Amino acid sequence: MLVRLMYASRAVPTLDQDELHNILRQSKHNNPQHGITGLLCYSSGIFIQALEGGRSAVSRLYGRIAADPRHGELILLNYEEIGERRFAGWAMGQVNMGRLNPALLLKYSATATLDPYSVSGKASMALFDELVATASVMC
Ligand code: FAD
Repeated sequence: MLVRLMYASRAVPTLDQDELHNILRQSKHNNPQHGITGLLCYSSGIFIQALEGGRSAVSRLYGRIAADPRHGELILLNYEEIGERRFAGWAMGQVNMGRLNPALLLKYSATATLDPYSVSGKASMALFDELVATASVMC
């Protein structure tokens, strides 16, 4: 049984580039063993992450991530059972914010800033889909 979970969180103010690299390194190392794929987006102190995989693996991982002191204020944006993965190519792909077109943000929210706290989970998922379609994801 495959599921997809998406959440947003706020990084602690002290999170720097090295720590972000550590998170991606841990994700790319651990996720394949647990059949997890997904995308991580980080911008202006906000994380949005989509996790796909078996229901128990995704639940376990979300529990670990929720307890991680490098971020807080987690909100669940979406959880669904799925027939197939959307992000199968990435153990944890990183959204390249440098390639993010502000017009894409405006398409789904009132302003051209990434703010998952003020838009629906559906809008955040649609944004992720477009990022994949426009090749704005790095391995
Ligand atoms: P260790 O303490 O060395 O690992 C302890 C044990 O847990 C090891 O035996 C290991 O095999 C096992 N383990 C590792 N990963 C899993 C897992 N997914 N399910 C069950 N057992 C596991 N971490 C990820 O692994 N994947 C992510 O996608 C991910 N995304 C993150 C996103 C954000 C925004 C943040 C802040 C953190 C994220 N993390 C992610 C990090 C996560 O919170 C833990 O710090 C990390 O999983 C610990 O891994 P470790 O191997 O260093 O831990």
